[in-house]
Amino acid sequence: MFWRFSFFLAWQLAGGGLGWWQGGAWGAAVGAAVAAWIWFFLDLLRGVRMLRWLRLGDMAHAPAMRGMWGEAVERTRRLVRRQEDRAQESQDRLQEILAALQASPNGVVLLDREGRIEWCNQMAATQFGFDAQRDAMQSIRNLVRDPEFSAYYAAQDYAHDVVIEGRSSTPSRPVRISVQLHPYGDGRSLLLSRDITALEQAEAMRRDFVANVSHEIRTPLTVLMGFVETLQTLPLNAEERSRYLGMMAQQASRMQSVVQDLLTLSRLEGSPLPGMGEWTAVPVLLQRCEEEGRALSALLTQSQQRSHDLQFPDLSAPEVALDIAGSLPELQSALSNLVSNAVRYTPAGGRIEVRWQPQNDGGAVFSVRDTGPGIAPEHIPRLTERFYRVDRSRSRETGGTGLGLAIVKHVLQRHGAALEIVSVLGQGSTFSVRLPASRLRCSSGAPLNSGPAGS
Ligand code: ADP
Repeated sequence: MFWRFSFFLAWQLAGGGLGWWQGGAWGAAVGAAVAAWIWFFLDLLRGVRMLRWLRLGDMAHAPAMRGMWGEAVERTRRLVRRQEDRAQESQDRLQEILAALQASPNGVVLLDREGRIEWCNQMAATQFGFDAQRDAMQSIRNLVRDPEFSAYYAAQDYAHDVVIEGRSSTPSRPVRISVQLHPYGDGRSLLLSRDITALEQAEAMRRDFVANVSHEIRTPLTVLMGFVETLQTLPLNAEERSRYLGMMAQQASRMQSVVQDLLTLSRLEGSPLPGMGEWTAVPVLLQRCEEEGRALSALLTQSQQRSHDLQFPDLSAPEVALDIAGSLPELQSALSNLVSNAVRYTPAGGRIEVRWQPQNDGGAVFSVRDTGPGIAPEHIPRLTERFYRVDRSRSRETGGTGLGLAIVKHVLQRHGAALEIVSVLGQGSTFSVRLPASRLRCSSGAPLNSGPAGS
């Protein structure tokens, strides 16, 4: 400032001096005035240049000026640069936040004061069927037409969520979305949505399961209580008492089987997966299946003239000389279960054939084929559900709990194996267990060579 003032004075003096030299005292006054006007005009020009530069906003091409105006240009340039950097930083930050919201497994929608969509993530777009670009600034009330949501939005009580149907919901595959609004700032709101289909299904399954367990236990318990009351109140002879006690033992054993199967299931769910360290000889497994199958068949057909025609694999055959990795009790219970089901559901005189077939890929198939009543196609996908029975009375008569195939499926899953069911109503069923090559080895301990193995 001091230099500028000094320079102005020097300029005035120079103008005044030049005027004095030309025209005396008057000349000096005119010279100083002209110098001031020239100074003013040049200043004005520089101001105009700076203003034009500021209006254009082209920070890269700042006007080259010195002195006070040069400094003003430089400082303005730095100020603008700093603001630009800050704006860029805020922009980057915003993009990061939006990317984080985009990565959220839940739907996120930002609404303005009028309930118009300012932004939504891909998950929300999928759940509500929005188009993130096309539907921007559209009212959420117009886009989400579910009456439950409309009532929730209108009531303005956002303390709880509301559950609505997802856009992709169909009667066969319902999709349920939990939606909650969270007001923030000056009247804006954040809408969060969550797919709770699996949660609701799990809850329904839990309810069904508890109801089923209660039913399975309560029925024999009621019968048992009836017998106890009879024994307590009626004067029975020894023969009658023993008959009643026999029936009571039957009911108690039914309850015991249900509890045992439930415990087995819960143990399977809670225990770690069977490793590859424990090997069992396949002939041992098959022999136990045979023993159990024959014993059960003898028991069930003892009062009848005919028995079952039971066929089991030749345990000395080379294709059986294998070891299988996994838990022996689990595998044993799964395979025996299939054999015992075939025996239980096939009437006396029927044929049951158990086979062990090595596969070309190195795996093997254990199958149980019977000539029993067969199963209608609509039941087959549901057979491994807990307590699902096609023939309720036959299942109970033969001591079934409705949990057998659920246990089989669980055990097989734990061993990387799969259950396949083929059945024709009135002709019979085949239950096959497909065991992976990774869990089999030759009895010698050598790994299996995959290749034709005489399937
Ligand atoms: P359960 O203890 O009742 O036998 P499972 O889970 O073992 O229960 O089997 C489920 C249902 O599948 C049975 O109730 C029965 O109706 C049907 N089922 C199973 N195996 C056979 C079979 N070999 N032949 C006909 N029906 C079968």
